[in-house]
Amino acid sequence: MSNGQLFLEATYLLASVLFVMGLKSLSHPDTARRGMIMAAAGMAAALIGTLFHPEIHNYIYIAIGLIVGSSIGIPMAMVPMTAMPQRTALSHAFGALAASMVGIAEYVIHGSGLGPVKSGALGLEVMLGSLTVTGSLIAAAKLQELMRGTPIQFKGQHIVNLCLFLTMVTLFVLWLINPDKYVLFYAMAGCAFVFGVLLVIPIGSADMPVVMSLLNSYAGLSSAATGFVLSNNVLIIAGTLDGFSGFILSILMCKAMNRSITNVLFGGFGAVVASESAAAGAMREVSLDDVAVQLAYANQVVFVPGYGMATAQAQHAVRELGNLLEERGVSVKYGIHPVAGRMPGHMNVLLAEANVPYSSLYEMEQINPELPATDVAVVIGANDVVNPDARDNPKSPIAGMPIIEVDRAKSVVVLKRGKGKGFSGLENPLFFKPVTGMLYGDAKSSLTNLTQAVQKV
Ligand code: NAP
Repeated sequence: MSNGQLFLEATYLLASVLFVMGLKSLSHPDTARRGMIMAAAGMAAALIGTLFHPEIHNYIYIAIGLIVGSSIGIPMAMVPMTAMPQRTALSHAFGALAASMVGIAEYVIHGSGLGPVKSGALGLEVMLGSLTVTGSLIAAAKLQELMRGTPIQFKGQHIVNLCLFLTMVTLFVLWLINPDKYVLFYAMAGCAFVFGVLLVIPIGSADMPVVMSLLNSYAGLSSAATGFVLSNNVLIIAGTLDGFSGFILSILMCKAMNRSITNVLFGGFGAVVASESAAAGAMREVSLDDVAVQLAYANQVVFVPGYGMATAQAQHAVRELGNLLEERGVSVKYGIHPVAGRMPGHMNVLLAEANVPYSSLYEMEQINPELPATDVAVVIGANDVVNPDARDNPKSPIAGMPIIEVDRAKSVVVLKRGKGKGFSGLENPLFFKPVTGMLYGDAKSSLTNLTQAVQKV
């Protein structure tokens, strides 16, 4: 083995170890930042090692790729936190495009000479990669509101999707039997591109995190297949880690919503629904001064943030109010629902950015038993994740979804702009309960005004 090759293998081994350790560290907020640094260092090691690949004879195209990639990647990394889901979707699209293009290039170079095993891996790589490219682009467009975020459905959609899927798989099998028939290969890739679009358009934008982690999983498996074709161990390891962690994350999110993957993918959730709800009567509006007095004299206050906190960018304002209350001797806790907001860990990331200590964040299972002893539960732009219909109404489309049970607190204050519904499009009976007071307005202004009002109490 030449020195260059030895260096290459050593960097790939180092990269693989860093990927595994990075992923492990990401499972806890305290170590997550370190995990990200380890994963990035692993990627750098893999890239540097690849430059010593014996088959590389010309560095010009690599330099051009580096300049083009960096000039797209650096501005993409600068987007605000609220745009992170669509940014991630775009990254998936680029990653999958790279995997598909490598697969197509390998086929153009080697044609039918790859043998059945490598051809199978290559076909999977191109199929999964291609559907991930268009699926991720649609996900990004929906999240960026460049297209309608609600499900786009038409008659016979499931049949059309099923027929397209079966055609794609049939073309793949026929091509494996006749690997020199280029037309079968390109027709399969074409079907995969269209299938990616049709797979994602019927899914509502708030379900995009589940879709994206599934697409992430496809892109990972596609990269692992690329690794088999190129006999590249680090691609196999990184792709497999990506593929399975993405899949596990999708399952965890579905569990947190008490929904199945098939319901997310084919249920058209988030379309306008008519359902029986316990919501009746009138909402009770409360004044800023009323809420300030309640907060100032409370023993325990629990903040429950949701998507509205993210859109209002109210994380700093809530931390300021929380600090003020703590200075007055109030016990302040933050109840975090696993699917609050629009991506896993959305609330944790925003609150961490505002320097809310991790020890003040309580997961749903931890905060629910505390709520009956809580004087005021302040709901900040959350809706579905505190909807008691999920617990009380078996006919509700979200029946069985675990919620943060704010209605068990002695008093509930809901901060939202008006009578807007949550992602599910459902009415929320919490807002009509006698225990609940509505404080209308943008969450950030309401919290800032509350801080000033508490200072005067
Ligand atoms: P939500 O149900 O979508 O409700 C958000 C609420 O925020 C709205 O009712 C809106 O009411 C209010 N709002 C919007 N902008 C605001 C502002 N500037 N100031 C104050 N309030 C504002 O949010 P959620 O309770 O966080 O629930 C998340 C939903 O996403 C769930 O249905 C969940 O299943 C779904 N989902 C999440 C994930 C994930 O990974 N996080 C994954 C899959 C699905 P107004 O318009 O009246 O202000």
